[in-house]
Amino acid sequence: MQKILSPGRFRLVIQTCFVIFFVYIGFRFIAFLAWAGGTSETFVSKPGAIEGFLPISALLGLRWLTITGEWDVVHPAGLSIFLAVLLIAFLCRKGFCGYICPVGFLSNVLERVGRSIHLARIPPKWLDIPLIGLKYILLGGFCYAVFSMSEKALGMFIHSSYNMTSDAQMLAFFLHPSLTSMSVFGGLFVCNIVIRNFWCRYLCPYGALLGLLAWVGPVHIMRRSSLCIDCGKCSKHCPSGISVHEKKMVRSAECIGCVRCVEVCPVTDCLSVVVLGRKSVSWKFVGIASVAVLLLVWAWAKLYGRWESEMPLYMLKRIYTSGMVH
Ligand code: SF4
Ligand code: SF4
Ligand code: SF4
Repeated sequence: MQKILSPGRFRLVIQTCFVIFFVYIGFRFIAFLAWAGGTSETFVSKPGAIEGFLPISALLGLRWLTITGEWDVVHPAGLSIFLAVLLIAFLCRKGFCGYICPVGFLSNVLERVGRSIHLARIPPKWLDIPLIGLKYILLGGFCYAVFSMSEKALGMFIHSSYNMTSDAQMLAFFLHPSLTSMSVFGGLFVCNIVIRNFWCRYLCPYGALLGLLAWVGPVHIMRRSSLCIDCGKCSKHCPSGISVHEKKMVRSAECIGCVRCVEVCPVTDCLSVVVLGRKSVSWKFVGIASVAVLLLVWAWAKLYGRWESEMPLYMLKRIYTSGMVH
């Protein structure tokens, strides 16, 4: 009999809740921009969560924190979210990718579409491995650019009107895409259907960083080879294309903790989520712990002034109307 709350449904519920939340904050942010831009009289506060879509800004804020000991006052919530996501990656594998990130959700949907029409593939190893390296090269490039900046240059960039309004510019980029960006989106869309998780697997530097943290983290998927009947179902269904049936312990930086492998395994307890290589925990651990860490960091940030910008409203309005938002 099928379980009422299977791992797949559990994950879908969490992902759907976050997608609804992201749509909500998107509309809130549009309403805020309408007020800030003077097209509406109704004041709507800027939703801090929108800054979660600015990982490069957050990386700059993290560097600023390490040099000066000061929290980024321009995008304080962005830095809080970034640190929460890094913590999630270390403690709960790539739970952010598997349960929270809206791009990951879209990627899953396209992968399923690709599978249903028998198109989705993982390229052969000789091509797959160098392609996986691309996202690490991009990550290295971003880290080098940010961590090689002098304190003065960093401070100037963080407090520039470009960085201050980067959230509005990002929104404009997605709401009014140019022909070039639409072509790129279209290409990525098709690539995600024919190659499983194309964007996340090969190009996302954020996912690369999270994968490295997950790799050194304490949570893994363990296969008990004494129970395994070598049916290969786990590997066949793994969205990240990991050869689960060949491993004793899945430590791969590509594992998003979706527990699809655990779900499809026909042998009870053959696959399980383990902490520190030994202690089995519930398959719900990655999803619940990822959301819990995010909520705890959010509560901490709200309590200690690391969420809302302290900028006076009249200044915010001036910044957003100073020609950066069209
Ligand atoms: S790899 Fe990047 S885009 Fe994909 S789910 Fe993870 S953070 Fe999101
Ligand atoms: S190894 Fe299992 S938990 Fe990890 S991505 Fe593959 S199916 Fe999901
Ligand atoms: S699905 Fe389970 S039994 Fe089948 S190969 Fe994977 S671990 Fe072994």
